[in-house]
Amino acid sequence: MKNIILFIHLISLTSLFSQNVEMVFSKDIFISEDLSGTIKLFDNGVPTFTPFDKEITDNHFNEIKSQFISDTMKIFSEYWSNSRIYPYKNIDLSVMKDTLTFHFNSDNFYCTPTSHLYSAFGPRRGRQHKGIDTDLNTGDTLRSVFDGKVRYAEYVSGFGNLVIVRHFNGLETYYAHQSKIIVKINEMVKAGDVLGLGGETGNALGPHLHFEIRYMDNAFNPEKVIDLKNRCLKINELILTKEDFAWKKQWRESKYHKVKSGDTLGHISTKYNTSIKKILKINKSLKSSSILQIGQKIRVR
Ligand SMILES: [Zn+2]
Repeated sequence: MKNIILFIHLISLTSLFSQNVEMVFSKDIFISEDLSGTIKLFDNGVPTFTPFDKEITDNHFNEIKSQFISDTMKIFSEYWSNSRIYPYKNIDLSVMKDTLTFHFNSDNFYCTPTSHLYSAFGPRRGRQHKGIDTDLNTGDTLRSVFDGKVRYAEYVSGFGNLVIVRHFNGLETYYAHQSKIIVKINEMVKAGDVLGLGGETGNALGPHLHFEIRYMDNAFNPEKVIDLKNRCLKINELILTKEDFAWKKQWRESKYHKVKSGDTLGHISTKYNTSIKKILKINKSLKSSSILQIGQKIRVR
């Protein structure tokens, strides 16, 4: 039997050589476990397909399967939620002792074409602006900055139409105020893949992109990573310490409530999840018998 097959092969080889055809293209393809092999194209226009041995095909697909299953860092399995914007349950990196290191590859990066920064990361109007605002018109294509998987894609008050993509290094990027979300939850995206269209939904004073980068729900300045002016990555290795999240402390340290008609210390303490005793302790001029004045500022944290 073997001899016959060899003989047939020899005939076909001879016929190839007798026509003096040359191979112009060769490619190994893995389509499925049943259809994988080498495609060759010859200059007489005749293509051939040689299937791989079962062992080669099985090895290839087993490797891919194990990559997906292992997800050793559990990036796409732990704290994965399509319904909660912040799934990490109050992890506060402003008190961490460790240093976090992340790696970037400029081949897997897409910079939203913008040269205009409307608003930077930092304190704004009495609270923290947890991202950057860049120009993006309504209907403009909005694309993912890095490769990753869509964790959240929904309308929410404040952010408007919001897409959150989790990346392979564990970082998440937030894209807010979109007029239309195109991508679906749990979809894998490559850097540059379309997520949606620019807009001004939610709490926006005009069309723009509100963009955030977070790790475990904790936002840090995206300009540490992205050079907007030159539309490129600023660094290949990002190191984050508690200092990058120090803004959280600043806002946690003191918070004030402006007294409205009908407010009592009881109402206020309930609203801010504290107690009258604690409020009195941090407001030296205040007594439990004090009459609150409308417009008066009371420290609640
Ligand atoms: Zn913003």
